[in-house]
Amino acid sequence: MRALPVHPSRMTAPALLVERLDRLLPQTQCGQCGFDGCRPYAEAMALGTADIDRCPPGGDAGARALAHATGRPARPYDRSRGLHKPPLVALVVEADCIGCTKCIRACPVDAIVGGAKRMHVVVEPLCTGCELCIPACPVDCIVLLPPAGDTRAGTPQAEASTSPASRNTASASSSPSP
Ligand code: SF4
Ligand code: SF4
Ligand code: SF4
Repeated sequence: MRALPVHPSRMTAPALLVERLDRLLPQTQCGQCGFDGCRPYAEAMALGTADIDRCPPGGDAGARALAHATGRPARPYDRSRGLHKPPLVALVVEADCIGCTKCIRACPVDAIVGGAKRMHVVVEPLCTGCELCIPACPVDCIVLLPPAGDTRAGTPQAEASTSPASRNTASASSSPSP
């Protein structure tokens, strides 16, 4: 059964810090920090077992905010974990989709719908652009695009297959990466 949310007035100081750090994170759930999503990373920072520089989607501004919240020295985010990019969303190229459902299993936020042997679709408002579905697709029919309404010039970011996020497996480890 899902736990009920705890009102902030009833939270302990460590729980409040976790909550605050989690709210500062982009909620992309990409795993580039080496944790299985934003909240586990927030918990590790609150415990003091992870530094504030591990989130590429948050960029340098995010790292500064995390440093301020934890009282640690500010530093740029760790570029070896991936590059900060403009927001992107995934799109399934319909003609090539074989309906294998692997992307559904890879998506950490349930943003893909579709049944076995049927074309799959990304629900754009739910997609965080984490890229985890891209390496999961056996026929490379998922591309990343700027969100609808975004007028920036852009071409499909199919190079994601070489990006750090796409090198993560769909089941990013819940323990810090080396
Ligand atoms: S790297 Fe990805 S999963 Fe980790 S805190 Fe940042 S957005 Fe969340
Ligand atoms: S659809 Fe793909 S890019 Fe979007 S959240 Fe799901 S796994 Fe990430
Ligand atoms: S992983 Fe690729 S081929 Fe399989 S259902 Fe998803 S989009 Fe279609």
